[in-house]
Amino acid sequence: MSVLVLADHDLGALSPATARVVGAVSELGPVDVLVVADDPTAIAQSASALSGVAKVLTAKGSSLADGLETLLSTLTVRYHYVVASAGSVGKDVMPRLAAKLDLMPVTDVVAIHGPNSFDRPIYAGNAVQTVTDNQARHILTIRASAFRPAASGNAAPIEAIDSSVVSAASLIASHSTESDTPDLATAQIVVGGGVALGSAENFQLIETLAKKLGAAIGATRAAVDAGYAPNDWQVGQTGKIIAPDLYIAIGISGALQHLAGIQGAKKIVAINTDPEAPLVKLADVALIGDLFEIIPQLLTELDSK
Ligand code: FAD
Repeated sequence: MSVLVLADHDLGALSPATARVVGAVSELGPVDVLVVADDPTAIAQSASALSGVAKVLTAKGSSLADGLETLLSTLTVRYHYVVASAGSVGKDVMPRLAAKLDLMPVTDVVAIHGPNSFDRPIYAGNAVQTVTDNQARHILTIRASAFRPAASGNAAPIEAIDSSVVSAASLIASHSTESDTPDLATAQIVVGGGVALGSAENFQLIETLAKKLGAAIGATRAAVDAGYAPNDWQVGQTGKIIAPDLYIAIGISGALQHLAGIQGAKKIVAINTDPEAPLVKLADVALIGDLFEIIPQLLTELDSK
């Protein structure tokens, strides 16, 4: 059983999600990783170091190009599984690849029980469905945060492949958000802020606390819709799925759609004025009080350490 993993990358570096996808699928068979990038060299080297990787294939071109699923469909004949993380590229390309090959994709996989048995969340994460996929080939997207990353220390060979189908399309412009905080989907600590922050200026309290803790920044949809936080910080059903060791939820009520994104959090601390808020009830530790008093105290305490 052979596996092809489409590598995720950002700003010329391999995304931590790829190590988790490789970790998830390495028991299914030998794993080849496909890196499609304008300059794949450094990304391919990082991928080749991952344990369980047999070979890294590189193709020059944009991973956003329309030709990507054409390239994947030509490679698919060699593999039993074609896999990507359930990130923005995987969510875009894998359903199109499945349609092209007339296969049913299994999306948002959170557990792999065997060669054709996969768990995926349904009803906004309120139930888990076990899918038996008896197709000859399997197209999967993986929720990277649900799996442990593959170790490094490998040195798999790197092979360039014909990328003419990908490079036939060209990327006109790319706008990226630069951030000095960790990747939200794979961060160990996340500090999330809700609409209670009241303004984009006040949301900087969340950013300051997150930076002091080396944490990623999350937000509710209400905070994003109000313009307090950018869209790529949104956590939940229609945002990012997170699974940190610690989630500090500040001024967040805990609507079902938000909870759908934090079910993998190992410990939750809630700061809220309302002791009856759903997230306060769910939290391991709850601080009942005004965030505008509690956060400055926390920052002062952290500064004194
Ligand atoms: P609120 O629900 O208004 O809660 C604010 C909280 O702050 C309250 O608990 C309040 O007690 C507390 N508070 C107020 N003042 C203070 C203070 N000074 N100090 C401390 N605490 C204070 N939401 C998401 O987050 N992610 C999603 O992906 C998402 N997807 C959705 C998809 C659909 C189809 C729909 C319909 C909704 C979706 N939502 C999503 C929106 C969701 O239903 C909620 O509206 C949203 O999560 C509420 O955000 P909030 O907790 O910031 O605001």
